[in-house]
Amino acid sequence: MKFCTLTLGCKVNQYETQAIERILCEFGHTLVDLGDGCDVCILNTCAVTAESVRKSRQTIRRMKKLEPDALITVCGCYSHLESEEVADLGVDLIGGATDRCEFARMVAGTQGDGSSGLFCYHPLGSVSVQNHPPSVDGTLFSKRTVTQGDGSLVLFGEQMDENSNSFSRTQENRPPGFLRPPVFEELPPGNTASRTRALLKIQDGCNNFCTYCIVPYIRGRSRSLPLSKVAEYAKLLEEQGYKEIVVTGIEISSYGIDLFSKTDEPSPCPEGNHPPSTDGTLFEKRAYLSLITAISTIQNAAPNARLRLGSLNPSLLTPGFCRELSKIPNLCNHIHLSLQSGCDETLLRMGRKYNTTQVLESIESITKHFNDCSITADLITGIPGETDEEFKQTLSFIEKAAFADMHIFPYSLRPGTKAAKMPNQVEKNIRKERAKTATEIAANMSNDFTQKQLGKTVEVLFEQEKSGYYSGHSTNYLEISVKEKVERNSVQNVRITEIQNERLIGEIN
Ligand code: SF4
Repeated sequence: MKFCTLTLGCKVNQYETQAIERILCEFGHTLVDLGDGCDVCILNTCAVTAESVRKSRQTIRRMKKLEPDALITVCGCYSHLESEEVADLGVDLIGGATDRCEFARMVAGTQGDGSSGLFCYHPLGSVSVQNHPPSVDGTLFSKRTVTQGDGSLVLFGEQMDENSNSFSRTQENRPPGFLRPPVFEELPPGNTASRTRALLKIQDGCNNFCTYCIVPYIRGRSRSLPLSKVAEYAKLLEEQGYKEIVVTGIEISSYGIDLFSKTDEPSPCPEGNHPPSTDGTLFEKRAYLSLITAISTIQNAAPNARLRLGSLNPSLLTPGFCRELSKIPNLCNHIHLSLQSGCDETLLRMGRKYNTTQVLESIESITKHFNDCSITADLITGIPGETDEEFKQTLSFIEKAAFADMHIFPYSLRPGTKAAKMPNQVEKNIRKERAKTATEIAANMSNDFTQKQLGKTVEVLFEQEKSGYYSGHSTNYLEISVKEKVERNSVQNVRITEIQNERLIGEIN
């Protein structure tokens, strides 16, 4: 079978697509590009904003147009949330945001491996988010409908036994909506394409339920990859030749809260009193310990690879955490904050569990413990109730923080979230206008940060050759290009000599 994959959304989705690709290649199938005469097209969708939903739908139509004879298979957060809508687009197989192995197996199963007919895998059935409380395990419930060759329908809980090609009944007595214990689906890392930087997913789900966010309703409660697997996968990646490991998850700041018992009385922490933690329980110490533990586990298992962290919740970045983090030898001096706003009133309405004073303290600690650290951040503009005055506060805050780069998004109403029902919704054009204003300020700050890099020597992991230059990323996440021929996937010290059209040029040192 020739198959192609397209992925929308976050690094976790990218990681899971890579796992699906690897499983299918191990089944002997061939990964090709869209338009190369595929038998099957796979789309991993995103639902974090209305725009990502629009792009998911648009991509399904594009796949059908470019590969009219191929089976169209869809998984990920949008199909998890709105499986009926996806089914109405005329796709052949629907998966969710969980059970990626199962989905890959069903994709393989579409190729006449003894089975016939079309598969329709409905992660959510007909339950909409509004009338279903957030579940403890995140996966609302899974329902599988399979049309067999004889047209008979096989309902919930039956597993296809690919060898005997018959279905064995499992969970058959559980009523629809039965909640499975939260399990972290272990998907070995490594992608089939580049061998320079690799993602390592160590956490899934989220317990925070920020008022604007749909993710917890899709991905479920926070769950973590056990430390033994963290070590095993990190070692595997180093053995496969990767020079950088990007530690990712839906909310890695919550890593380990499910791996430690809640009854433990925390011993006095170096800092004594703790700022409020992300959801109020004192698990922060554990998460503090646990995320640090996970990162140092990766460091020990892959001592030659550099480590880059995904987004961090500012509430985790206490002075103690930053000090401990700075002790990890190969950690890149690049910290990305999921900040979202620079105004305390707005943060409260977002349900974020930190304030601007704490964020400034965190930035101070990071700057103290990491040289030349690039501190970057996410920002959402136009959340319900955000007044002009509040937005002004956010602008002056980001200028004070002087972020090296920012990802800025206008608020996107997500049905089923608390913010969707809030009064004082901000008009779309104002949300966009505010995002534009903030982006201009962020661009100036980014230029300032880049200018300050001139003359410095940085460590660059070279990834590709582009228009006569060899380019890669520095540890503080700047893209650097050199003229000299450099081996791909090699790490070199580069002195930054000039900026050409916003591109940093350097010489091997
Ligand atoms: S921390 Fe908040 S924004 Fe991030 S995934 Fe969880 S609920 Fe969504």
